[in-house]
Amino acid sequence: RTVLRKLTEIMIKNPDISPSETLPVKVPSTFHKRYLKKMRDLGEGHFGKVTLYLYDPANDGTGELVAVKALKQENGHVESWMKEIEILKSLDHSNIVKYKGCCTELGGQVVQLIMEYLPLGSLREHLPKRKLGVPQCLMFAQQICQGMDYLHSKRYIHRDLAARNVLVENESLVKIGDFGLTKYIPEGEIYYRVREHGDSPVFWYAIECLKESKFSFSSDVWSFGVTLYEILTRCDPRQNPPTKFVDMMEPTQGQMTVMVLIKLLEKRMRLPCPRDCPHEVTLHMLMEQCWASEPGDRPSFKSLIEKFEAIRR
Ligand code: ADP
Ligand code: MG
Repeated sequence: RTVLRKLTEIMIKNPDISPSETLPVKVPSTFHKRYLKKMRDLGEGHFGKVTLYLYDPANDGTGELVAVKALKQENGHVESWMKEIEILKSLDHSNIVKYKGCCTELGGQVVQLIMEYLPLGSLREHLPKRKLGVPQCLMFAQQICQGMDYLHSKRYIHRDLAARNVLVENESLVKIGDFGLTKYIPEGEIYYRVREHGDSPVFWYAIECLKESKFSFSSDVWSFGVTLYEILTRCDPRQNPPTKFVDMMEPTQGQMTVMVLIKLLEKRMRLPCPRDCPHEVTLHMLMEQCWASEPGDRPSFKSLIEKFEAIRR
């Protein structure tokens, strides 16, 4: 047991070592609820609630900190919740939050997702507190593209890429989180059609998602453009995408926000590009490309990585 614990520690400290390839023993992935000690709430979105726990089987404070995600309402969405867990479990990339295991309530249905804890929270919480320079913004943006390129290579579309879903490990590393809306695109197909819109993050959605509910690899690129806008505005709440889009809208009489938003995008209106920053022109072009009306005109994450490498050189 102590050997296993030491191995686990080593692997946690060296995330580059792939446990399945280099070490004969796997990290234990069943966590017992009785050893989980609640520390504090980390955040919540529409479906999930994330809490910081100390997993401390030895009961002497030597345990490890983990982030535990649970479904908010314990009735609905169970099927998609299990899918979210399966998807995260299958992913392995330095810019994607790491799955650690599951925790099942005794005899019950309730399953909690256990993942690594990222101490600086999401970009949305972190950026307003720091005076982050443009080079660091660009580094974070490139890392998001790297994680997204990997996700797409596995034929998954994220569908909820936004600053609130990008987690910060430290000043030089971010990871994509929240795979709650992620969908698999079978080989040979190019988009996924969504039936319910419910609480959709419409201000991050590409025009074809709003008009025809068609989600594709290219619609993730549009959302990346919005995420880049958030990063460059340092997630200033006064400039966030919903506020900015609502400012652009003409006063309406009871028309649905989505309809007004579609009209606005059809008139080729977009979020404003950052001003007075280095690489202003290049970044402007890059964002406009991500927000091209035709999905086929948008760059891939692979080419975005190259563009960021060129800008940062
Ligand atoms: P939802 O599906 O409900 O949106 P998320 O997975 O996006 O849930 O998590 C909600 C919030 O919890 C995030 O925006 C972030 O602030 C925080 N959070 C999520 N995962 C972690 C983590 N691994 N480490 C630290 N904070 C996290
Ligand atoms: Mg979220």
